Amino acid sequence: MPFQAPRGTFDILPDEEEIWNKVQQACFETARLFGYRYIETPVFEESGLFQRTVGENTDIVEKEMYSFDDKGGENISLRPENTAGVCRAFIENGLHNTTLPSRLFYYGPMFRYERPQSGRYRQFHQFGIECIGEASPDVDYEVIKIAWDVLKILDFSNVVLNVNSLGDSQDRYLYSEELKKYYSKYLNDLPRVDQLRFERSPLRILDSKEDITIKISEDAPKTLDFISTESSIHHENLILHLDQLSSIDKEFQYKINHRLVRGLDYYNKTVFEYTSDSLGPQGVLLGGGRYDPLIKILGGQDTPAVGFAMGIERAVNELKKNIDIEKNYVDAVLIVTNDDLRIQSTQIANNLRNHKIRTIIAPRKSIKAQMRFANNINSKCAVFIGHDELEANKLSIKLLQEKSEQIDIDLNDISQFKKILSS
Ligand code: AMP
Repeated sequence: MPFQAPRGTFDILPDEEEIWNKVQQACFETARLFGYRYIETPVFEESGLFQRTVGENTDIVEKEMYSFDDKGGENISLRPENTAGVCRAFIENGLHNTTLPSRLFYYGPMFRYERPQSGRYRQFHQFGIECIGEASPDVDYEVIKIAWDVLKILDFSNVVLNVNSLGDSQDRYLYSEELKKYYSKYLNDLPRVDQLRFERSPLRILDSKEDITIKISEDAPKTLDFISTESSIHHENLILHLDQLSSIDKEFQYKINHRLVRGLDYYNKTVFEYTSDSLGPQGVLLGGGRYDPLIKILGGQDTPAVGFAMGIERAVNELKKNIDIEKNYVDAVLIVTNDDLRIQSTQIANNLRNHKIRTIIAPRKSIKAQMRFANNINSKCAVFIGHDELEANKLSIKLLQEKSEQIDIDLNDISQFKKILSS
């Protein structure tokens, strides 16, 4: 084959459109029910934006960004995530002057140069929520609940919310020192990747996917033992909300996961992930948390914020297992019995389309071949256009699915046709 889609990317084909729409609809409708509004930012930004926010030492910035110098010499990156872009837009467009919090949601492609494997792509889609300008744990709960509602609509089973608190930056510093003390005892046993993390970002050792590290981390100190009173109260208030949700919705399950730190530099206090065991080791459906310092880091006013990002491909793949794809995408195929009626049939086709009847004109072939075409594309009916029909000012409709009767209708009364289609 001369060309193929680049590694780690894929095409969305017409048969899959319905599933993608369903997922998108679940996201958009839920976000709107909570008063969130759509925001769209460019798919590329100045590289410095991600270095400042996601963090220079993260895998995303170090290894996974598609970065290049554009023709004007500016260093540009395809966005690996959208929180940084949304915060940049929040500051640049003066949204802090509007009523806060700003409740925003986005949906679109992200790009990461990852090693392609099951559930990991180089171009993938995320739906995300950002609630900017409110410090209360009530909005942490709000975004967690939005995510839960989306997952429920999409019918995910065995979903568990993992939650933890990282405290504020001072707590994080103390905790990192404590972690270093702990891991220094095992330094020689840690794999190379985690030895490097030890120096640069010990918190990320907790995030390691290496079996030995996971084992060693079992007895590591817990963030919750090191966070300030203020962060503790914040966390306890969130837990009260979660307990309340568990009591009214028996499907909702959560657990405190002491190893959950999330990969990016900008999180503080609440961090969370929803996991589903049906997805195997890549089972994280969505993740998020509080990122109070971020807007200030980007030069804006000190503005607390919380949000999450959900991977759409995982939701789509899950839904594919449970849904029968609708094959019926055409209502009428016009069978033109004489080629001298081709011009007239385009007018009839347009008239039907004006009445929202999805119509295709069969190709210039024999009547038999035109009928075969109508059957092959699963049209609901075939409409015969011949001299006799036009002289009598009627359309002769043959139903092609469950019933196979033939019905004549008045060419001037397309509403009759619509009734037949919907019966
Ligand atoms: P993150 O921005 O890394 O916290 O990811 C949030 C969610 O996006 C994850 O839980 C995944 O569902 C999804 N995701 C992240 N990276 C990828 C990828 N390379 N391919 C597909 N989905 C991804």
